[in-house]
Amino acid sequence: MHAQVLRGLEAAHRTGFCGTKIDTVVVRGVNDDELADLLEFGKQQGAEVRFIEYMDVGHSNGWRLDEVVPATEIVALIDADAGLEPIARNYPGEVADRWRYRDGDGELGVIASVSQPFCSTCTRARLSAEGKLYTCLFALDGTDLRGPLRAGASDADLHDAIRAIWRVRADRYSELRSEATANRPRIEMFAIGG
Ligand code: SF4
Repeated sequence: MHAQVLRGLEAAHRTGFCGTKIDTVVVRGVNDDELADLLEFGKQQGAEVRFIEYMDVGHSNGWRLDEVVPATEIVALIDADAGLEPIARNYPGEVADRWRYRDGDGELGVIASVSQPFCSTCTRARLSAEGKLYTCLFALDGTDLRGPLRAGASDADLHDAIRAIWRVRADRYSELRSEATANRPRIEMFAIGG
């Protein structure tokens, strides 16, 4: 699998595919000593590396708070090595803080999903393989869209249904994260996409 992913990245680079991103979850004691190597690999592949704080999505990853490397620490590590300066977000609601190398050699992103939650500006909806719409990575359940679709719902009907779901959404798991939320059932990441 790993070799296939590398071949896919190389193929994307060879064919001039633009906008490739390498999203990387940083876990303390696992890969937090490989940030510079990954950034170098990203440069070679013409891809932007984005580092993501390790999240407690689902229950199968055995998440522990002390394994989270905060975004400030990630930036400090890279800054000490390569020299960084912040740049503005591309659009409202963009989840990554953007940084560029002071020497002009490209940019990277850091997603502070645990230490600096951004639920108030979150615009992410996810569709599971069985056609349920989830309005949060940590949702207990989604809303079935497959049923209406198979019953003949038009694009406009689905549009209205999604809009109605989104209007009443009040998700803010990351802002509420605590011992009280730790054992709540929640969807696994592999069920709703990365
Ligand atoms: S916890 Fe849910 S609402 Fe908050 S940023 Fe993550 S996906 Fe969005």
